[in-house]
Amino acid sequence: MNPIIVQVGAVVACGVYGSFFEWFWHKYWMHYPREPKEAFRGHTIVHHGLYKGDDSFFVEEELHAEHVLLKPYALPGLIALHLPIIYCIDRYWLPHTALTFFLATLAYFVVYEFTHYNMHVPRKQFVERFAWFRFLRQHHKLHHRYMQKNFCVLIPLADWMCGTMITEKTLAKQKAAREAAIASGQPLSKKPVRS
Ligand SMILES: [Zn+2]
Ligand SMILES: [Zn+2]
Repeated sequence: MNPIIVQVGAVVACGVYGSFFEWFWHKYWMHYPREPKEAFRGHTIVHHGLYKGDDSFFVEEELHAEHVLLKPYALPGLIALHLPIIYCIDRYWLPHTALTFFLATLAYFVVYEFTHYNMHVPRKQFVERFAWFRFLRQHHKLHHRYMQKNFCVLIPLADWMCGTMITEKTLAKQKAAREAAIASGQPLSKKPVRS
């Protein structure tokens, strides 16, 4: 296979995998008190406790933003978890892709942290001008209001595919459906409203 296609494919695969990884880790560890419990304590108790889906979502001063970023051991832990997988893919399936997978994993983590930090701490950074950033910030703000929705921070693909994605538009549709059901006296349809 063309080596450039393989390398580009590795980056795309990393983005897709990253979306599902952050969805899975966020839903089943950060919002569920299983070992290591620090993930639940640091995220559900502290991060969500301080920054809610209202005005408290925004941290005015960087001095008070110490609970926005992940713990310093998160990156080494993520790399240690994925190095054996990266090694096996390179050794047995797609040779010469280890460096690409490693750099793409690193880049995903750095962009995730940068994006999440700027969502909570508006400082008129260049990134705040982009529509995709404003969309992701609203997506994450809704997660701070509805903790079992919008688990993805950077790439909401897994939310969309797993049915956990909500937007202001779907919430408005659900509200209108509820009001229509109450007005008509009919039971509300169980069918989820898709964005
Ligand atoms: Zn957050
Ligand atoms: Zn959360």
